[in-house]
Amino acid sequence: MKKKYVEVWENCLNVIRDNIHSQSYKTWFEPIVPVKLDNNVLTIQVPSQFFYEWLEEHYIVLLRKTIKKELGPEGRLEYSIIMDSYNGPTGPLAINYPTSNQKASKNPYVSMPLDLNRGTSKDIPNPFIIPGLKKIKVESQLVESYSFDNFIEGECNRLARSAGYAVAENPGKTAFNPLLIFSPTGLGKTHLAHAIGLQVKINYPDKTVLYVQTEQFINQFIESARNGNQNDFVHFYQMIDVLIIDDIQFLAGKDKTQDIFFHVFNHLHQSGKQLVITSDKPPVELKGMEPRLLSRFKWGLSADLQMPDLDTRVAILRRKLYSDGITVPEEVIEYLANAITSSVREMEGALISLIAQSSLNKKSITMELARQMIDKFVKNTTKEISIDYIQKVVCDYFGLPVDQIHAKTRKREVVQARQVAMYFSKKHTKSSLATIGLQCGNKDHATVLHACKTIANLIDTDKQFRAYAHEIDKKIIQ
Ligand code: ADP
Ligand code: MG
Repeated sequence: MKKKYVEVWENCLNVIRDNIHSQSYKTWFEPIVPVKLDNNVLTIQVPSQFFYEWLEEHYIVLLRKTIKKELGPEGRLEYSIIMDSYNGPTGPLAINYPTSNQKASKNPYVSMPLDLNRGTSKDIPNPFIIPGLKKIKVESQLVESYSFDNFIEGECNRLARSAGYAVAENPGKTAFNPLLIFSPTGLGKTHLAHAIGLQVKINYPDKTVLYVQTEQFINQFIESARNGNQNDFVHFYQMIDVLIIDDIQFLAGKDKTQDIFFHVFNHLHQSGKQLVITSDKPPVELKGMEPRLLSRFKWGLSADLQMPDLDTRVAILRRKLYSDGITVPEEVIEYLANAITSSVREMEGALISLIAQSSLNKKSITMELARQMIDKFVKNTTKEISIDYIQKVVCDYFGLPVDQIHAKTRKREVVQARQVAMYFSKKHTKSSLATIGLQCGNKDHATVLHACKTIANLIDTDKQFRAYAHEIDKKIIQ
């Protein structure tokens, strides 16, 4: 049965929806969550102080009317501002607000530990110490060589590239907010994302640009929660003008970080700041993401990158050689561009191996050397092993339909196949236990951990099982 307050709020929304523009409805009403109803007081949760103020300023009449209609003349509305929970019980949302008692100093600052090495080493200097409110200095984490100049344009990237360029000309002011760039691995998402950031810095030196990998973002968040300075974390991200977040798919299953990202996103978006997001899948295929976050991603533009055609691949190789100051016979370049069609990264990898081989063996780069190298290289380039692929191999091996893995069944053979798939997913992919669980029948990370232990145990103790596992392993990596 639906809770009363949910129903009341839904009734209000039905009226509100008919009375305002649909974009405004999406922006200001969809994110609201009803929380409780006590003595004719309906409490709704809003994402930030700013959000609340906006509602009060623009929609108060409409809100009042609908509430009274639903709850009678005594009906009232109260707001619960989500950000409060990150600000501590007393703090309004403000950058110069001291975040905890220990930190209440005359010179409030916002700092954010960024651990580039992803460990927890305390030796790494904190690049985000912000000395005063006026002089905000954030290391952008941008790689100089990933510029627009070095990003070859082709049919494969036309839309994403020009949208990226437009964003860099007018960050936060185009319809492309967020700009979401997606493609399989190795096709230039990270490069383009940096290019946008670098170009913003050229056009607007005073804007604060930050490039961050999603995994760094997650680790920083966990670290801040551990140290009790989530405030600093949130504040830090809220003052960025152009936030570039790479490989958002890693947020899958990370509910708490998604929650925080949602607030950061809203705050930046509402303040006219630019978001650039990359993903290895289009938003509709991102699993394990909160719907409210996915719906935000669709506000702007999603543009994909495809594998470049032959001419573009040749141009990419030429550009790379040019910037490295190396000359290679034209026929070798064309040969490489023809031979490698899996990704730009692999093609560049082949070129680098070739250059390395020639300089180590003091041989010049010839067609023959290229052919030998490609023979080895192409055979060795294992395709990226995905959880889906592992599930398929395992199910084929046990003669089970793949959908059984996702089904809610406890049949012994299905449970074991699922455990085996989890074990090999842990072994062959970089996915977290939570992600593996999510994709293997929507299990939690503890279940995956248990599965990995069980299978490792069986491999250790059961000869027959070890033989099966060995065969499956071979099939996965072949
Ligand atoms: P992704 O983030 O999609 O996995 P990257 O951005 O890391 O891919 O790109 C892989 C490599 O290919 C990088 O070295 C990048 O510079 C290069 N690359 C990809 N697309 C292009 C392009 N259009 N022009 C020049 N270099 C490219
Ligand atoms: Mg990348």
